[in-house]
Formats: sequence, structure tokens, C-alpha cells
Amino acid sequence: MSLLRKSLAANSSIFTPSEAATVAMIHSSSHRVLLRRSSSSSLRTATSAGLFYRRGVVFSLFNNVTHYSTSSSDDFFPSSKQRSRGPVMAAKKASGGEKQEEGRYKHTVDLPKTTFGMRANALVREPEIQKLWEDNQVFKKAVDKNDGEIFVLHDGPPYANGDLHMGHALNKILKDIINRYKSMDQEARKDLTQPKLRAKAAKFAKATVKTQMASFKRYGVWGDWDRPYLTLDPEYEAAQIEVFGQMAFQGYIYRGRKPVHWSPSSRTALAEAELEYPEGHVSKSIYALFRLASTPPTSNGLLEEFFPDLCLAIWTTTPWTVPANAAVAVNAKLQYAVIEVQSFLGDASTSSGNKKQRLGHVLKEEKQRFLIVASDLVPTLEAKWGVKLAVKKTLLGSDLENCQYFHPIDKRECPVVIGGDYITTESGTGLVHTAPGHGREDYVTGLKYGLPIISPVDDDGKFTEEAMQFIGLDVLGDGNIAVVKYLDEQMLLIMEESYQHNYPYDWRTKKPTIFRATEQWFASVEGFRQSAMEAISQVKWIPPQGENRITAMTSSRSDWCISRQRTWGVPIPVFYHLKTKEPLLNEETIDHIKSIIALKGSDAWWYMKVEDLLPEKYRDQALDYEKGMDTMDVWFDSGSSWATVFGKSGGPKFPADLYLEGTDQHRGWFQSSLLTSIATKGKAPYSSVITHGFVLDEKGCKMSKSLGNVVDPRTIIEGGRNSKEAPGYGADVLRLWVSSVDYTGDVMIGTQVIQQISEIYRKLRGTLRYLLGNLHDWEAVNAVSYNDLPMIDKHALFQLENVVNTIRESYDNYAFFKIFQIIQRFVIVDLSSFYFDVAKDRLYVGGTSSLTRRSCQTVLAAHLLSIARVIAPILPHLAEDVWQNLPFQFTVQDGSAVKFVFESKWPVPNEKWLAFPIEEIDFWGKILQLRTEVNKVLEVARTGKLIGSSLEAKVYLHTSDASLASRLHEMCTASNEADALHRIFITSQAEMLHHVENEILKTIPYSGEYLIQGSDRVWIGVSRAEGLKCERCWNYTPQVGSFVEHPTLCGRCYKVVAVQPEPAAAVC
Ligand SMILES: [Zn+2]
Repeated sequence: MSLLRKSLAANSSIFTPSEAATVAMIHSSSHRVLLRRSSSSSLRTATSAGLFYRRGVVFSLFNNVTHYSTSSSDDFFPSSKQRSRGPVMAAKKASGGEKQEEGRYKHTVDLPKTTFGMRANALVREPEIQKLWEDNQVFKKAVDKNDGEIFVLHDGPPYANGDLHMGHALNKILKDIINRYKSMDQEARKDLTQPKLRAKAAKFAKATVKTQMASFKRYGVWGDWDRPYLTLDPEYEAAQIEVFGQMAFQGYIYRGRKPVHWSPSSRTALAEAELEYPEGHVSKSIYALFRLASTPPTSNGLLEEFFPDLCLAIWTTTPWTVPANAAVAVNAKLQYAVIEVQSFLGDASTSSGNKKQRLGHVLKEEKQRFLIVASDLVPTLEAKWGVKLAVKKTLLGSDLENCQYFHPIDKRECPVVIGGDYITTESGTGLVHTAPGHGREDYVTGLKYGLPIISPVDDDGKFTEEAMQFIGLDVLGDGNIAVVKYLDEQMLLIMEESYQHNYPYDWRTKKPTIFRATEQWFASVEGFRQSAMEAISQVKWIPPQGENRITAMTSSRSDWCISRQRTWGVPIPVFYHLKTKEPLLNEETIDHIKSIIALKGSDAWWYMKVEDLLPEKYRDQALDYEKGMDTMDVWFDSGSSWATVFGKSGGPKFPADLYLEGTDQHRGWFQSSLLTSIATKGKAPYSSVITHGFVLDEKGCKMSKSLGNVVDPRTIIEGGRNSKEAPGYGADVLRLWVSSVDYTGDVMIGTQVIQQISEIYRKLRGTLRYLLGNLHDWEAVNAVSYNDLPMIDKHALFQLENVVNTIRESYDNYAFFKIFQIIQRFVIVDLSSFYFDVAKDRLYVGGTSSLTRRSCQTVLAAHLLSIARVIAPILPHLAEDVWQNLPFQFTVQDGSAVKFVFESKWPVPNEKWLAFPIEEIDFWGKILQLRTEVNKVLEVARTGKLIGSSLEAKVYLHTSDASLASRLHEMCTASNEADALHRIFITSQAEMLHHVENEILKTIPYSGEYLIQGSDRVWIGVSRAEGLKCERCWNYTPQVGSFVEHPTLCGRCYKVVAVQPEPAAAVC
């Protein structure tokens, strides 16, 4: 690549471009007059004279002029240079229907021809190509033919959420690029699993999968669409039962009573991912009193003086959990105060019928009363309650530990405990009502102190008899009200207040949930956390930050609640003893259930009788057992996907080479897959994990319907309603965009981005069309052997081979944006501005079967075949379109023709091309720099009206670098056309000067001095070319006029024409 960079190296001149222009202009002004006089023949080159006699008669050349030129509008010229130069285009112009006299030599010019359209016409052509693949089973054949090592990209969790958005497109296209690349890779790998889609719930999933498949197909995503695998397939479900069983036998599955998110409206436990937090939820919060019973003996009478009227003041947003209270927690490090309620200031804050706040009766009671609250909150509470509070004593939270208080409802004594840092003075009182059956932090604190886990609430969210007088009441409704009323009656309610906060709702029913301790099945992450952490460090994470994310999440996660109370999904395959409630779960029961489900699907669990579900051995005890009604967490479903794919004998290797999903899956699928795999197989299910960011709009904002900035992949492909405002760009433009972004972070898309990408696509298409057009008469037998190629061609092949290798490396590293950059820089810019530009002369007028044209075509064919194949994973339709328009057959070693681009393999590495000598690499780097500088002087000469086309110029060079001078001199006199320096400059002549003397300078109107990297300065001069213009090739030479039969031709064209059958001028 260093070479490429070299050729890209900006201006190496000792002048900046504008300075160079100024210098050159100064020269020009004093020489202009001279120039006019000397333009015809006063200058002599060392090379051009002598071969073909002296110049003879000057013909009236201008009578026969046809004004053709290569311009940016020419379809076949990817170069957008405005400068008019290059070979004859007479024939083209004539064939374009212009009524000008046709050039006499039109038929001797080899103009490009191809059936490959300039326009992509993607809306028609892409579906045609997709049908071509389908009809010919190209994907299947590519997979079947591949008999080497398998590459497995395991597809991610299902998108069972309807229509596809840009995120899906990014994800699927990235996978498809990898998949297609791997299918072409010489090291012969195949992918069995990537294309297989999965989805969750039966009907919905199947319908969704169908519409999604249609979209994915339109993106050009390959897949085994006839055989997708769904989590609802019996085979899949059986594999999942197996994973559960394996984890249970390892001792990682247990049943426990813990508070979980519970949805009374759908009567099930919920995962964090199944909750939403709508705005505007209002809870009924209360400040309540819990009367202190005693202080611990160790307190040395610290609070004696305030008894018996000393109370703990607590605050809660869930009064219905008060019956389940088991402790009050304080923060050991906070300062607390004993305060006396001195005077009731009136119902100030609750006046004027404000329903948001209501004071309890206790404050209105004329009675001395002491409360304990956090010191920092005293002023806040004074204002809120409308009372005067006097601080009587302060103490630390740790001093309160083990005080006892009376439970406000059943009057049993409960302890004050030390909670965690979750206790602050941001709100409430600094004392936290603790109900381990209804809160996660409460549960943890409860475990520490051995508190009872009380949860007197049933599946419907109604109080059980454990809640005594509240039995049957709805905790989120009348139950809550009843508790508040009771506390007030007991003179334990200070205040009731509406409180707006984030509160979890069931994402399906849109109803509030509760925290509730129930018997659930858990996977003990603690049991295999260490192995998981070690496995994480063995996986390659792309980008590397992914490792930190999943490490943090895995190290801190609590045990995984895997049971759900749903009527659909895969059952937890456990029987319970009717009397003892003991679960029955062992290898025999698991094996038996697995075999049933593999055959009949998981529905069998629900409709079959216990005696049939039990293995033979237990059948006579069937009456003692009932089957469990819990199903597995959907994350357990998707997290077991590796087991279906890799579990079978003959399946792909385990672990998968790659998982690729959005960054949110560090919490989701990457983690659930890791946990199930570690617990059963002891290793991660993947070797590498790639994450991609989110798709944002052009300004970097999140896309949302309300903002109206949603970019729909379908609109990009098919176009919008107004085809002018939103034209359809086709799938390849969308795919090219995917390749262009650094997907490891968030990526942006919008109309402008897509327009730019489509412009790059158009140019790339133009480059490919140039190649196809100039190979219209090509056959492999025409190829010139490497050793016979001119240096310019060997250099081009060297660069091509380097580029192909770099692209391959970038595919291997999943750095697609690098490929995009190389395509943009090398294929579109570098090739067009140098090799292709110079090649036109050889191709069009060099002579159909001349060595110079055939060697150029040898190089072009190599480029075409390589470029089409290396872009194929990203731009499959374009690559196939090229392949279908190949004017020649591409055959593999066994002689069979490769009919589709995806039947071809990755270009075979060519060591010979790479072995271009280092000093030549260096030299050609200088030639490219020199050419850039020569072009600048030519540009100045053009501005000064000395020349129009660069072919009207002669270039002079001088350098004191002897070796460079000698090489350049060789090229001025090169025997092969292709390496001739003036051809490379696209001028008519080039000459090396031994000295730059005043005498010579007078004849050279434009000049400048430039520094070429690694060499001395090079002096460049430009004058008008000697001789007359050849009618056929537009090059100027004194030879024109030398040939009697063809008086308007140059020597080269004379030779070409003389061997061509020409009706008008018969060959003598
Ligand atoms: Zn010519």
C-alpha cells in the first residue's frame, strides 16, 4: 500500500500549485511571440526525426477536421477531467448520429462496445439478477461446491416486530457481505447457518418471517429461504429442553422464592426487557409512623428519654406493601435526628381542596410526639407537613441498628437494620420501609438479616389471607386505599400525597406491574460466573470496547430468573409432587420429554396427560404428580439457539466463528447465549463477536416517526411516492452505504448521504463499463505473457495485486469501510486518472491486434475480473451484471466456464505480479509524481492559450539526478509504444535535456521546477509540439505528410492502417 500512498502523495513540487502557476506564467509572457514563430518545426527532438524522411507537403488538414474530443460527458470515460486530450473519437461521434463527414480512418479505430448499461436501472435489473440466481440455484451451488473448512456466522435473535427499519438492513447486509465473501474465499469455507431466520411466537412469527424474508431477499441477502429455522420448530424446542436439562444436572438450575417483576394483568413474571416506563404515572405515596418498642441493650439508654412516644417516620410509594413490612432500613453513615412536633401550623399546604395532598389525623392530635428522620430532611418535612419541628437529639444511622418497632398492622416486633447506599436524603425521610417480598434491594437486605420474605399477594395482584383484613382486595386499587385508611385510623398516617415517577408497566398489556416474591426457576449465574468471565477474555470482540461492556454486565448480573407464567413457549419440563410440592427433574424425565417434544412440539406438554409425559419408570406414580405450568424466558429460547444448530451430529463446528448484532445485545442475546453455553459446554458459543451501532439520521438524531426523519430502506431501494424527490436507488446503493460506514459506532444516513453514495456507485459502474467496453474483442488466447508486458503494464498489475490483497485483508478483518475507501480511491480515481487515461491511445488507435493494445487488454482483463470479484460481496448485483455482460468466457483450471460471479472464487494470488522489483516500484512512483507536475505546467500553457489539447504540447525535462535522467531518457526513446514517456504524459513529444541553457529556454515558453520525492529537482518545460496533427490519432509529429498513400497520418498510424484491410485505400 505504500506505493498507492506514494502515488496519492499530494503535490511534491517545491512550489505550491499557485506559485508554480505564477512562475510558469512569468516564463510564458516573454516567450509567447517566439513561440508562435517556432511552433512548426524550429525545435528538433532527438527521437522523432529520421525514421520517415523529412516532412513533406503540408496538406490542408483543417478541411477534414472533425471536432471530437474526450470529455467528461463521454460515457466511457470515468475520468472527469475537463482537459481535452486523447485519441481519436471521430468514429464515435459519427456513429452517434452527427451529420459530419465521417473520418476516413473511422473503421480502423477500436472504440469501446458493450451491452452493459451506463445506468444501473436497478429497479428492473436487480430483481432480474436475483431471479437469475434463484433459477440457477447459484447460492446452493456455491455452498455445495465448497468442501473446505466451514465458516459459521450464527444468526441473531429474531426480529418478530413487523416491518424492517434501517437497523435491520444494516445488520442483515453486514452479515450478507461476510457470508458472500466467505463463499468466494479460496480457503473454501461455507456457511450453513447465517441465512436461517428465527422467530418467536407461532402465527405472528410465521407471518412476520414471511414478509421479512421478502425484504431481505430484495436487499440481495442470500439465504436458504426455503428452510428457515424457527424457535417454534419441534427440533429447536427439543434442543432447548436438552440445554435446560444439562444445566440442571450441572447444578445450575434451582427453584427459589424471590421478588420478580410481576404483571397481574397477564399473570406472569416479566423480564426487565418486557417492561416499559410510560410518562405520567402517579402513585399514592405516604408518610407513616412505626412506633418504637425498644432499643438494644448496647445503646446505653440513648433514646430512653423519648419513650413511649417515639416513632420512626417512613415514606413509601407503595402503601400496599406495608402488610409485608419486615424491617426499617437506615444508612449507617447518615445523621438522623429525634424531632419534636411542636405546633401544627394549620392545613396550609393542603388547603383549597388540593387533592394531591392530605394530612393524616395524627398531626392534628394535641399530644407530645417524637419522630426520627434524617437530619438533612428536617426543613423539607417541616414545610411539607406544615408543622414546627424541633431537633432534640442527633445520632448516626448505625446507632439505630437493632432497635425494635411494632409492625403497624399485626403489631409484631420488627428490627431496624442497616441498608445500603440506596438510602439517601434525596426524598422521603431517610428511613426505608423494607418488604423483602416486594423489592430487590429489600430482598438483599432481608437475606443479610434473615428477614422473612412475606408476599401476601396472589397471581391476580390481590391480597391473600396472609394480609388478614385486606384479603381479596386489589393491591393496585382498593387494597392500596384500604391500607392507607387503616394507617390513618391507627393514628399512624402523617400525610398522603400524589407522586409522579417512573413506574414499570407490562409492555404487552400496558398495565402497571408489581414486585412480588414467587417461586421461580433460576439459573445460578454465580455458579459459573468465573468460567464465563474467562471465556469472555478468549473471545475476539469487535470493536474491543465490547469486551468491557459484556464483562461489566456479566460480573454484576444476579441469578437469572428463567421461568415465566405464560400459555405459550417452551415449558419448564418439571413435575411436582402433589403433596410435598417437590419437583421431579432428572435425566430420565428430561430425555423422555425431549423425545416427545422433538416429535410433537412443545404443545404436547399442555395436551398430553401426566402419565404419558412421565417416563416408564414413573408411570405408576402418575397420580402423585402434576406437571409444571411455567414456560421458559424467551431469552432462554434464543440463548439456546446454538444448541439446535451445533447440537446435531454432522452440524457445523462449535463454537461459531461469528455472532453479529447491535450493541444492545451485550445485555441480551450475546449474554444469554454465553450463559447457556458456558453452563453446559464450558465455553463460549462464538469465537468472535461483532457489534454495530444504531442508525441515526443525517444530523445524528435518533429516527422517530414524530420527528419525521425515519429513513426507510424500502424507499431507498424502490423509491418513494414522488420518484423525483425520492428516486429508487436499488439494493446495491444501500449495500454500498453499509460498506462505507464505520458500523462499530452509530451510523448516519439521509438523502444527501445516499445521493453521494449513488454518485460513487455511478462512477464505479462507469469504470467497469470502460473495462467491458475495451475488452469487446478480447479472448484469453490474446493474452500477452507477463514477461513480454511493457513496464507500465507490469506496474499496473503490481498495483492491482496489492489492492486485491489489501481488500482481502479488510474483508478478513471485517473492515468494510476500508474496502469502500480503496474502491473509491484506487478503482474510481487512481485508475481513471492514470492507467485508463493513458490506455485510451493504445486501445483505440494502437491497432486492433497490436502488441501494445493486446498487452493493455491483458491488464484490463485482469482488472475487470479482479474488481468484479472483490466488489461482489458488497455489490452483488453490479458484479453479476458485469459478469453477465462479459464479452469473453472466464474458465477455471478444468476448462469449465464460470457462468456466475459467485461461482468464481476469489482472485488467485499472483506472486509474479507482486514481484515487481523494488527499484521499479520506486521509479514508477516518481513517474506518477512527475506526470502530476507535468499536468500542472500543461494546464498553465493551456490557460495561456499555447495549447488546447495536451497532444498539442511537447514536454522537456531536465534533472541533475543522473540515474533518473537516464531512465527518463530511455523512456523518451522507448521502443515499445506503451512505455514511451510522451504517451504517459499524453503529449505528442517528450525530450530530456542535458542542460537547461538560455538558448533553449527562449524556445520553451512554459516551465517550472519541481521536487520529486527521493530525487533532485526536475525542471519541466512545455512548448508546442512539432509537426502536424495526425488525422487518425491527433498526435502531432513531423512525420505527418511523409506517407504518400496516407499523407495525414503519423508513422504509428501509418503502420496500423497499412496492415488493416481498408477498402478506400487498398494496401499496396
Ligand atoms: Zn497517428
